[in-house]
Amino acid sequence: MNRSPVIIIGGGIGGLTLANALHHHSIPFELYEQAPELTEIGAGIGLSEAPITILEKLGLAALLREQSTNLKQVFMPDKKLKIRRQIASSSEIICIHRARLIDILKKNLPADKIHLSKKVTGIQVHKESCIIRFSDGEEISALQTVAADGIHSVIRQQLFPEISVRYIHQTIWRGISSESLPDQFENSYLEIWDEGLRFLALPFEKGQTFWLGVKPSLPGGRDNPETVIDELLDLFGNFHPALKNLINTSGPVLRNDMADLGTQKRTWYKNKVVFLGDSIHATTPNLGQGGCQAIEDAWCLALCLRKYGDDFHTACRKYTQMRSRKVMKIVADSWRFGKAAHSKNPLFHYGYRFILTHAPEYLIRRQEKFLNDLGYLDKL
Ligand SMILES: Cc1cc2nc3c(=O)[nH]c(=O)nc-3n(C[C@H](O)[C@H](O)[C@H](O)COP(=O)(O)OP(=O)(O)OC[C@H]3O[C@@H](n4cnc5c(N)ncnc54)[C@H](O)[C@@H]3O)c2cc1C
Repeated sequence: MNRSPVIIIGGGIGGLTLANALHHHSIPFELYEQAPELTEIGAGIGLSEAPITILEKLGLAALLREQSTNLKQVFMPDKKLKIRRQIASSSEIICIHRARLIDILKKNLPADKIHLSKKVTGIQVHKESCIIRFSDGEEISALQTVAADGIHSVIRQQLFPEISVRYIHQTIWRGISSESLPDQFENSYLEIWDEGLRFLALPFEKGQTFWLGVKPSLPGGRDNPETVIDELLDLFGNFHPALKNLINTSGPVLRNDMADLGTQKRTWYKNKVVFLGDSIHATTPNLGQGGCQAIEDAWCLALCLRKYGDDFHTACRKYTQMRSRKVMKIVADSWRFGKAAHSKNPLFHYGYRFILTHAPEYLIRRQEKFLNDLGYLDKL
């Protein structure tokens, strides 16, 4: 009997990884994306070992390694680049341009299964199927739907209106500088907490540097593209000239209000619709794990769909059981980390910074092991 295709809504990191994983297991799919092309805005993304391992299983890791930079260590200096702590990575971590990652993820997918400029506006869920409506007026009937439509998912808002976006009241700016970091930081990731601000820098393709700056602020602010660089130079005015130079030599700067979907218990599916990635468990970017977890979701869901065949309900139940404990801990840790980095109380701020720079190495390795663990998928 022919299996009905899995309908994927959203062609971001999670949706495209799922498409690859289904294709890999010969499970038919159709992917619908609202944008006229599959790409991502100009910024970098860090990936840890678990998603790299998954992309390896999908035959994409060679390209990934070719087009990314490898981060061999983390430095935690102060704003003047005086080293407080240096930790060698015990596992593979890479930084890649988001557009490159999307190019890699779409490379092996059959073009006729990808439908662009298809914006979902509503969904009607029945016991055995659902009707998906698009902005161009088309309606399709689907027996198995995966919502991978990001933090502002219209499908989640309709099926789980009780889950709402939670702002941490921190704004993050991202830019790509044409300059490199000083030589001593080659292949290193810099994490700086000072003056209640946070500044991160990662080596990027073609000798460039990807940087991120964070400050506490209310959501909803807007930047003037003409003045944003000067404003950031003012904000990080006391930071080392090499860091300010990164800001000063950047192309367009992106701004986001950091947010997640909270940690209250939830199911990840309803009837014949299941959620994946940011659409159901968006996390603040403090630990750089949202995309990593979307990739892990996708792989786990594909394995469940392979194992349980047309028993969609059991596949979704197993997938949620297997994924939610790890993901919800990451969401909670990431929120706490962000709060600690920007605590308004200087005593707490310096206390947390002390813990970060003096935490015993075994605790850091334990966290790495937790993030990198894919052993729980062996049962599939
Ligand atoms: C500042 C910042 C830094 C980050 N850094 C990292 C990092 O270093 N490492 C990491 O792992 N993660 C990082 N993340 C998180 C990561 O970007 C997200 O977790 C990841 O993109 C989630 O993937 P997704 O596929 O679930 O959702 P998305 O990437 O949001 O993709 C959703 C897709 O669905 C489409 N879509 C939305 N609505 C509709 C609709 N109605 N109809 C059809 N299509 C629709 C969108 O156009 C999009 O293509 C960061 C996030 C931010 C904000």
